[in-house]
Amino acid sequence: MADLDSLPPLRDVADRHGLRARRSLGQNFLFDENLLDRIVSFSGDLSNAHVIEIGPGPGGLTRAFLRAGAQQVTALEKDRRCVAALQELSEVSNGRLEIIEADVLEADLPRLFTQPPVIAGNLPFNIATEVLMQLVESGMPIAHMLLMFQKEVGHRIAAQPGSKSYGRLSVLVQWLCAVEACLDVPPEAFVPAPKVSASVLRITPRSCPLYPAQINHLRAVTKAAFGQRRKTLRNSLGTTFADPVSALEAAGIRPDLRAEKINIKGFCALARVHQDIVGTDI
Ligand code: SAM
Repeated sequence: MADLDSLPPLRDVADRHGLRARRSLGQNFLFDENLLDRIVSFSGDLSNAHVIEIGPGPGGLTRAFLRAGAQQVTALEKDRRCVAALQELSEVSNGRLEIIEADVLEADLPRLFTQPPVIAGNLPFNIATEVLMQLVESGMPIAHMLLMFQKEVGHRIAAQPGSKSYGRLSVLVQWLCAVEACLDVPPEAFVPAPKVSASVLRITPRSCPLYPAQINHLRAVTKAAFGQRRKTLRNSLGTTFADPVSALEAAGIRPDLRAEKINIKGFCALARVHQDIVGTDI
């Protein structure tokens, strides 16, 4: 009986199913199984894990999760051609792989699991940030996420105050999650090669946000502060607060600093001041 180790190379599977990459679906496939195993290793012990994989394509990451011993993998794929290719993998998975033809942006993810899942994917770059923010802000129970982003976006998500990459995305994601940069993947690892490198991040939702704040107010102050990041905060916050200097001082922040110098604790303090001034409903 066929098993995972006797599967044909991924490239052959893609060829046999006519899986020429479609740009409209953000398709850049990974065929190097050593690299795929390395990516999956950042998820740690998977023996009790339910993995929800977004966009499995011809099944490279899916194979790696199954090889690593994942208890269950549910793969959500929008492209019907890939669903057919994944069927062969399902047949050698001992019932561990379920394939669902679906658009992740419309899927009811909480219906798919009973225990907090690992959410994984080499996502199309153009929807990766949207998918991440939906997952992070949904508050659904998630063990961790192992996701691939365009390198520049990955570095923004993981950036620390004071760096050029530090911005609104860093604050909002790190406020709710612990972020670990795992590895960068060069363009030539993909078929076809994209113009830019990718980064794999492991993102683990916190049991509660890092500091108290209401998300709409945190969104409002970070939007204004980073929207004009070259200005000092007393200037960039001019349309958000009638008296930005008093608001910044109430939050314990020097008004002559720029947004990139303010840590998450500072932005949360400013969000609370914003809430006190404008009220809860925004
Ligand atoms: N995981 C595979 C790999 O590493 O080779 C494929 C990665 S490719 C960058 C992205 C995959 O996501 C493609 O298979 C594409 O069809 C799928 N996809 C694109 N948009 C999607 C969506 N909205 N919902 C689910 N899958 C999607």
